[in-house]
Amino acid sequence: MCLMMILSVSCAQKTAHRYQAEFLSLFDTVTTVIGYAGSNAEFTTLAEAVKSKLQEYNRLYDIYNNYDGINNIKTINDNAGIRAVKVDPRIIELLLLSKKKCELTDGAVNIAMGSVLAIWHTYREAGIDDPEHASLPPMDRLIEASKHTDIDNVIIDLERSAVFLSDPKMRLDVGAVAKGYAAEQTALYFEGKGVRRLLLSVGGNVRAVGHKLEQNNHEVPWVVGIQNPDKLSRQTELLSVNCSGRALVTSGVYERYYTVGGKQYHHIINPQTLMPADYYKSVSILCPDSGFADGFTTAIFNMPLEKGRAFIEALKDTEALWVLSDGTIAKSSGFDAYVVK
Ligand code: AMP
Ligand code: MG
Repeated sequence: MCLMMILSVSCAQKTAHRYQAEFLSLFDTVTTVIGYAGSNAEFTTLAEAVKSKLQEYNRLYDIYNNYDGINNIKTINDNAGIRAVKVDPRIIELLLLSKKKCELTDGAVNIAMGSVLAIWHTYREAGIDDPEHASLPPMDRLIEASKHTDIDNVIIDLERSAVFLSDPKMRLDVGAVAKGYAAEQTALYFEGKGVRRLLLSVGGNVRAVGHKLEQNNHEVPWVVGIQNPDKLSRQTELLSVNCSGRALVTSGVYERYYTVGGKQYHHIINPQTLMPADYYKSVSILCPDSGFADGFTTAIFNMPLEKGRAFIEALKDTEALWVLSDGTIAKSSGFDAYVVK
């Protein structure tokens, strides 16, 4: 069955049933697709189409792998200080948005920090593989790498759709911003094709299209839980929010970490200290656009509460929830309006 037929079923919603699919091959994380279709086979076609759209973004934004015939972020990194690389406009769009986020947050989220993040990545992976010998990156190496993180050295040529890293030791890492942007663009693409209801989650970046349907075909909100960062707790979710037509994006310490000398070191690195930020266990943003929210969660993770709160309160139609490192919960002023009891 072709995608257009599925979409017509999804549009009519006459005999639609709810289905769910999970993929593990995208963005090094878990992707979940929940939608409606007339049969499992129809839904599978839709879910596969969603997967292949996300895969296009995954390949473009990959910093570890090359793909035949594609210039991706790795290609840009490999050519740092050597030449400008012609890329797909979807890379240019992500880089422009990321530059803006870096500027708006005084560098608290900076995709040009790849050289620093790569060191942490190497030590973290080694520490996960061999916990007995886990160690922290030497601070002098981090400081040396941090001299090559000036985002103004990411030169974007809009006319040629090309990117040049003018600092040969600079590397891009779009891990903070890519998943939410890809989820947003994919949601918009399928909405544009007529899909009226879809819940997409790409590793903590949730985007809900339309509303959920109850068995009697009544529309109800998509309700999404905010994960309890305390994974040992029996309460897996802290609370749930109405996510219909909105995005819920979370950065959390529980996603990627390793342990050195009994202390956990996670994957969000404060550019000021070059160490994992220790204000929070998780930060979630609720707003209409997961491409907008992603990256800001990482930035706010690196800010003291009052600074992060002021940042969120100044943004239109944007709410946030912080789980502080002692487990206390803080919320922006309009957050409670979305909480589902
Ligand atoms: P997220 O889980 O969306 O907050 O993204 C975390 C990922 O972003 C990490 O795995 C790193 O690849 C990258 N990252 C960590 N700290 C920063 C930072 N301060 N600025 C930009 N990217 C970062
Ligand atoms: Mg993110």
